[in-house]
This record gives sequence, C-alpha cells and structure tokens, in this order.
Amino acid sequence: MRERETDVLVVGSGVAGCSTALAAARTGASVTVVTKATAPEDSSTWWAQGGIAVTGDDPETFVADIVAASDGTADEAAVESLVTDARDAVEDVLVETLDVPFDTEGGDASDDYDLAREAAHSERRILHVDASTGRHLLGPFLAHLAGHESVTVLEDTMALDLLTAEGRVHGALLERDDEVAPCFAGATVLATGGVGACYERSTNPEAATGDGVAMAALAGAETRDLEYVQFHPTAYAGEEREDTFLLSEALRGEGAVLRNAEGERFMPDYHADADLAPRDVVARAVATEAERTGTVTLDVSELGFAEEFPDLAALCEERGVEWADGIPIAPAEHFLCGGVDVDLHGRTSLDRLFAVGECARTGVHGANRLASTSLLEGLVWGVRAGEAAAGHDTERVDAPLPDDSDPALPPGFCVDKRRRLQRVMDEHVGLERDAAGLRRARAGLRRLKGEVDAYTRTRTARDLYELRNATVTALLVARAAAENTESRGCHFLTPAPEVDAD
Ligand SMILES: Cc1cc2nc3c(=O)[nH]c(=O)nc-3n(C[C@H](O)[C@H](O)[C@H](O)COP(=O)(O)OP(=O)(O)OC[C@H]3O[C@@H](n4cnc5c(N)ncnc54)[C@H](O)[C@@H]3O)c2cc1C
Repeated sequence: MRERETDVLVVGSGVAGCSTALAAARTGASVTVVTKATAPEDSSTWWAQGGIAVTGDDPETFVADIVAASDGTADEAAVESLVTDARDAVEDVLVETLDVPFDTEGGDASDDYDLAREAAHSERRILHVDASTGRHLLGPFLAHLAGHESVTVLEDTMALDLLTAEGRVHGALLERDDEVAPCFAGATVLATGGVGACYERSTNPEAATGDGVAMAALAGAETRDLEYVQFHPTAYAGEEREDTFLLSEALRGEGAVLRNAEGERFMPDYHADADLAPRDVVARAVATEAERTGTVTLDVSELGFAEEFPDLAALCEERGVEWADGIPIAPAEHFLCGGVDVDLHGRTSLDRLFAVGECARTGVHGANRLASTSLLEGLVWGVRAGEAAAGHDTERVDAPLPDDSDPALPPGFCVDKRRRLQRVMDEHVGLERDAAGLRRARAGLRRLKGEVDAYTRTRTARDLYELRNATVTALLVARAAAENTESRGCHFLTPAPEVDAD
C-alpha cells in the first residue's frame, strides 16, 4: 500500500459517501473514496427498502411530520433546510444524473411517480423502486463514480485512524491487505454508516461497527445524541443474526397490521395512530406484547403482498416463512439518530473534518427518525459537505505508522469479544434502559476496552480495529444514555429494578 494525496478523502461508499464524492468532484477537486466494502451489499444503503421521502406541495407538513416523529426534539433549522433542499437534490442527483428508475403509477417513466406512504407520514411522499430502493440507487451511483475522471474508489480498504496536527485533520491512515499507509487530504469526510454490530440483532450489515464515530471521537471531535439508537419494530424474527431482514414500514402503510401471539391487534391500545405510530412506540409495544403473549406477527393478508412487495415475499420464501399465516417479527437495532456533531454543511468541531449520513448528527432526527428520511439526509448533507470540503490545500504532516510487531491474535479473540459487547448492549442499552443497568454496561465496556486496547498497541488487524471502534462507540452510547435522565423517543428509561436485600 503506497502513500497517497488527494484534495478530498471520503471514507465510506453508501449514499452519503457517494453524494459527497460526486459533489466534490463536480467542483474539480480530486476525490479518493476509501471503503472497506468488498461489495455494495456491505453498506446499509444497499438494503434500504421503503424509499426516499421528497417534499410535496406542502413543505410545512413534511417538517411537522419529522418533528412530531422526533417527539419534538429535532432541530427545526436542520429539518427545514433538509425539506427545502430535498426536491432539488433528488431531481439533480438521483433522477437526472443517475436515472434511478423510481416506480410510476402507470409503469412508464413519463407517468407520475407512485408515491408511497409510511408510518408517521401524514401524506404519500415516498419515492421507491419496489421495496428495494437502496440497491437501485447505490448500483448506478457506484457505476457513475467509477467512470468519473477525478474520483478514485479504493475498495476493501479501511481507514484506521485520522491524521491530526494542531486541531486540524489532514487525512487518514489506510489499511489494505495488512499493509498500512497514510492518505493526506485537504479535507476528510466520514461517511461510515451505523452501529448495528454493537447489537446481536440488527438490520445493518456486519460492517456497521461505528468506525466514523469512534475515529472522530478519538481525534477529539464532538459527538451528540448518541443515546438515540433506533430499533425497527418489524425485523423478521429468525433464529440466526444473518436471517434477520427488515419488513419495511411501507407494509403497514399499505394496510398490514401487527398481531400478538393470541391473534389480537394490539397497536390501537398503545397509540392513536395504531400500526402507523412512530417507530419507537411500535417497537416497545411489540416487545411488551412478545413478553406477555409470545411471538408477534405481521399480518399481510389484507394486501397483495406477493404482487406489491415481490422482493419481500422472495426473502420470506428463501427462509421458508409461510407469510400467509403472519410473519414472525421482533424489534432489531436499525439506525443511529445521533453521531458526530455537524453543522448544516457537515462540518465537525475539528478543522477540515466533515461527517455525513448515518455517522453524523445533523439534528434532523432528534430522538427518533421518521421513516425514509435517512437516504435523503445522506444525499442532501453529502452534496453540501462535498462542496464545502473541496478547495483546501493538502499538507503532509508527521504520520507515524502504528506498531504491527506482534500481529497474531488469540484464536476467536475478536468474535468472542464482539459477542460480549453485544450481550452488554442488548441487556442494558437496548429498547429500555435503567440507571443501574447503564452503570453496569459502562463498567463492563470499560473493561472490554482495556482488553482490546492492550492488543491494538502492537497490531493493525482490521477486525481488531473494528472491534476497537465498536467498543469505543458502545461506550459513548452508554455514557450518553446514562447522562440523559429524560425519556424521549428512542431513549426510554424505566425505574431501576428493586435490588433483593438478601
Ligand atoms: C434494512 C434497512 C432498510 C432501510 N430502509 C431505509 C429506507 O427505506 N429509507 C431510508 O431513508 N433509510 C433506510 N434505511 C437507513 C439507510 O439505509 C441508512 O441510514 C443509510 O443508507 C446510511 O447511509 P450511509 O452512507 O451513511 O452509510 P452506509 O450506506 O452504511 O455506508 C457506510 C459505508 O462506509 C464504509 N465504512 C465504514 N467504516 C469504514 C472504514 N473505517 N473505512 C472504510 N470504509 C468504511 C462501509 O463499508 C460502507 O460502504 C434502511 C437501513 C437498513 C439497514
């Protein structure tokens, strides 16, 4: 692996990284995208189902829906800026540049878009391609960048740490094929996605190890709202982690309903919007009913499931699920609402460091995200950050390579420690938290971090760095949860259980 220099270094190749790269390249800057992905499926973007919300004729309703879903905690200036720029960004990048084949009402490209509705949206405003929107967006995006003369995409390449000097970020140390080298950049943009690997059940790909949050925090950048980890209420409840797949909110938007193990609809007892209530409300209701009655199912019998959602029907069939009898579901970790704190252009608190997409905290989601606003946020902030990141001179700073003098790890080290991390997070930093559990989680995670740090001192193995990043991020999430004593959105506190005096 050789040393490199670039105007803009983008870490990550999901919707946020690709949008950043495109916008920076359009200014004439040289752009290097590094991604640890070896296939597009390694990014959450690929798996996005329901689609991308766009502003209709009434922007105020869109703003109001986002703020209401966040339990009133979203930053209104950030939401307004998202809603204002949404249409132009979708039109320019997704329609005109990439020609994403969004579904239309009559099936011809010239027909009106077939706008879908999802939970907590007060109108139909979601552009989609079947229920597999992500892959139809990311495929053309990666192909477009591959043909762009000022963009270099390095796959199977992981950013290990940021290069910093006097409060400014100058690029990152990259690892590929066990070799490490610096990449110096005028500006560096983190677009590393979510934190699903911190939990046993997640809809995210395995690579979602919170790298951007950890690297930024270790370099001294501010993070915010990390306690707001969103659990999706309807992930298929398979036996194994790899069986988990999402059953899009669009299903409930089209009439699917949740039933407990006794066959009863229960959401009307929990919220006035019943099955279309905000995600955090539905996720906790599902967990409560599962505890009370047994496995909860999603009843899709009232919609043309196989005709309208053929890709989801295919996933059910692959796993032998008889969907006509109701699909067994349970909540699973899905999305990080907080992240590296950024302004409207993706600037972090460190000079020349930007963050976009799921690893960034823009303020749009507050304590809980509205469905189908994440692809949009990645696109809009990616375009803005790409433009803002271009135009800085690259400076070569001192970049000592990390020690890799003792590369072997004890067998199963990373797998075992990751499981331990997931157990702690599931038990104490999941759908419901309490003060005593959060104290235990922090103590357990601190011990784990000590063990992992002892190995990173003399090793640069990728899975070890991923474990380090997941541990640092988990600790930050647990700390944020412990410091916030108010239940809002995804951060739901219960009274600490009574301690038995015996
Ligand atoms: C199953 C599922 C369905 C969803 N459905 C929708 C939907 O319908 N609508 C919607 O708006 N949102 C949806 N979401 C959420 C949305 O897909 C994600 O929040 C969004 O795609 C995140 O984009 P991103 O670019 O920030 O991250 P990602 O798409 O996850 O990309 C992150 C990239 O960073 C790379 N990376 C990470 N760390 C490093 C490192 N250290 N070095 C190099 N590369 C690194 C990864 O390999 C990956 O390429 C869904 C999510 C899931 C999981």
